[in-house]
Amino acid sequence: MSEQKVNLIGLSPSKLEAFFEELGEKRFRATQVLKWIHQQGASSFDEMTNISKALRERLAEVAEIREPEVVLEKISKDETRKWVIRMDGGSAIEMVLIPEGDRRTLCISSQVGCSLDCSFCSTGKQGFNRNLSTAEIVGQLRVAIRSFGPFDPSGDRRVSNIVLMGMGEPLMNFDAVVDALELFMEDNAYGLSKRRVTLSTAGVVPAIDKLSEVTDVSLAISLHAPNNELRDQLVPINRRYPIEQLMDSVKRYFSKLADRRVATIEYTLIAGINDQPEHARELVKLLKQVPCKLNLIPFNPFPNSDYKRPSEDAIQRFKMEMLKGKILTTVRRTRGDDVDAACGQLVGQVQDRTRRSQKYIDLQDATDA
Ligand code: SAH
Repeated sequence: MSEQKVNLIGLSPSKLEAFFEELGEKRFRATQVLKWIHQQGASSFDEMTNISKALRERLAEVAEIREPEVVLEKISKDETRKWVIRMDGGSAIEMVLIPEGDRRTLCISSQVGCSLDCSFCSTGKQGFNRNLSTAEIVGQLRVAIRSFGPFDPSGDRRVSNIVLMGMGEPLMNFDAVVDALELFMEDNAYGLSKRRVTLSTAGVVPAIDKLSEVTDVSLAISLHAPNNELRDQLVPINRRYPIEQLMDSVKRYFSKLADRRVATIEYTLIAGINDQPEHARELVKLLKQVPCKLNLIPFNPFPNSDYKRPSEDAIQRFKMEMLKGKILTTVRRTRGDDVDAACGQLVGQVQDRTRRSQKYIDLQDATDA
């Protein structure tokens, strides 16, 4: 039965080597198969012509190459694409591709729903269902690459950047996400540069430290408030890991990198809540302590939320205040909102919300790990 077969899309290079060793095969098979799966987009073993027929048959018995299923694709007026993708067990997640000049940024999900319950995010309002497997995370990239025609990850129309900013908190699904990152950056797979793969987190501090031991992917931090009192309200995980601890972990992460990248700080601007000049001034003081750039995200409304997007004036005033404080600041243009593909509008279909209380267990896992 297919449940018992290993889905090879989700095996990192070292795990694929171990898989072949267990079969009594040479480790170099892993490189061949990695290329077939991730560079040629193979979905069956028959295609793998440099592998003997006997081994291909053996592989087909114990393993599979299975992609998640696209149930809906919408293309926005601004060419942003949104997919609804069905995962094992029937839950669905959403994925967004944002074209901008030469860039094609793919925004992928790491969980079905999210357990962190940030007050301004519609994914959080859906509750938490489950973590995605590595195969389901990497499968999203395969789906996007395929949408451009014949599978060609390195062609002109390639996905140039990946951001883990879709549904879910990637650091609450640590192991599966780290393996997916490895495949995104592995030369024998998708070969993306570490500057073009960004993990965004609401601030699971111990997991940020753990991350720095296993990867040097780019990091974005969802800050959204300049002080703990306000952040406790907007991003509840702040009650566990307050701003000072978060900033220290960000400093540690970037001090370990061999190159001179800086953190991206994300700040969703919500009218009357965190968009006042005094918030901007407090934010300048805070951000002076860490090498970073600031990305302001005007709040994207969704049903049953009382929050409002600030006026264009208020957004520009906030930005000017930050620039005056010498913080490099950009405003994220809203993309794809006509197809509900904008930040915080991804809801998917969370089948079983009763597992919401799981969040405490997961938090514990993240901190114990
Ligand atoms: N859990 C991760 C990644 C997912 S969210 C994280 O928190 O970073 C990606 C970004 O969109 C985050 O910065 C998030 O705070 C922001 N966001 C969520 N809801 C939003 C909304 N309604 N309007 C604007 N930005 C939102």
